[in-house]
Amino acid sequence: MATSADVVGRAREIADEVLFPAALRVDGADRVPAAQLDLLASEGYYGMAAPAEAGGLGLSWPEAAALVETLADGCLTTAFVWLQHHAPVRAVADSPRPGIRDRWLAPLARGEHRAGIALAGLRVPDAPMRVTPVDGGYLLDGQAPWVTGWGMIDTLYTAALDVSGDVHFLLVDATAAPTLAVRPLELVAVRASATVDVHFDQHFVPAERLVDRVPYADWSRSDSSGSAMNGFLAIGVAGRCVRLLSPGPAAEALAAELDAVRSGLLTADSATVPTARAAASALTARAAAALAVQTGARAVLLDHDAQRLARESVFLLVFGNRPVIRDALLADLTAPAPAPKIGQVAGQSGE
Ligand SMILES: Cc1cc2nc3c(=O)[nH]c(=O)nc-3n(C[C@H](O)[C@H](O)[C@H](O)COP(=O)(O)OP(=O)(O)OC[C@H]3O[C@@H](n4cnc5c(N)ncnc54)[C@H](O)[C@@H]3O)c2cc1C
Repeated sequence: MATSADVVGRAREIADEVLFPAALRVDGADRVPAAQLDLLASEGYYGMAAPAEAGGLGLSWPEAAALVETLADGCLTTAFVWLQHHAPVRAVADSPRPGIRDRWLAPLARGEHRAGIALAGLRVPDAPMRVTPVDGGYLLDGQAPWVTGWGMIDTLYTAALDVSGDVHFLLVDATAAPTLAVRPLELVAVRASATVDVHFDQHFVPAERLVDRVPYADWSRSDSSGSAMNGFLAIGVAGRCVRLLSPGPAAEALAAELDAVRSGLLTADSATVPTARAAASALTARAAAALAVQTGARAVLLDHDAQRLARESVFLLVFGNRPVIRDALLADLTAPAPAPKIGQVAGQSGE
């Protein structure tokens, strides 16, 4: 059996030899090529969040973070689609509902069955996604914005609120129907993630698809600081930018900062995740900008990775944010630069 170190080492080979060489092509495609996601499944990566006894990889938190970082460094879009799968896997593994774990965990962990998430419908303040119990199941109503992976997932882990204020988490078949319509979103980056808005209109879901039910306040509290794991998408892109820079002081300074930001994210708790996430996004934006500047005019040619990475860095400034992350990021991005010391200003140095 492969050790954890083998898993991340093998991911590095895949990132460098398969994902990165194809990343520009994927960037312009409508969806991630099935072969790439099948490769991640065959390596066991869809089992990243599953317990080892259920066929999961059994990675520690830093190893799982390294896996996300490495795959994102190869191709952000591929890693982004794959990353959606793991919250549903964890929820299924922890489900208190009879039958859920037995029915769903193994095929999800093997990547035979692939999942996406529709949680943002709970964050629509005036019109959150609604669920109503009916005979034999539930009816879903409303809009779940920002659902990634459409056409590449089988199941949508969907959250909706009932009249008593509880959030229901349901496994919904990810197929269009008269009661489930999707609207594709045109994105400037990660376009092949096939991110869509999903509209539910009295959409029936059988009772046995209920994974969990929790009070809204509990969900909102646990959701409010955002996910540290999402920050490793940014770390991966920043790392690729740093490795594409020519060796020298700029690359060295950014590499040192990357190490510090990575360890900040690895050790963050719920109170410090927002600033650690903000630091990762801000660093990625600067690393992508530095790569574009160093590359020169060619950086704006569509066949150059520098422009892809720059667009991806913009996506990473907004993706998966929460109000606290956004505030921390805005503070970071708008902090005044240190004033130059007298004598360092051009024309005053005497040289
Ligand atoms: C390309 C792309 C793909 C995405 N894919 C997915 C996906 O597959 N699945 C998915 O679920 N999401 C997905 N997202 C959504 C992602 O999680 C959002 O970035 C996130 O929801 C923040 O959106 P925002 O910037 O509009 O948030 P904000 O403007 O910060 O928040 C939106 C609203 O939600 C409220 N809010 C925020 N957090 C909470 C909370 N904890 N409790 C109550 N209210 C809250 C805010 O007060 C605000 O009114 C995707 C986003 C992008 C850009």
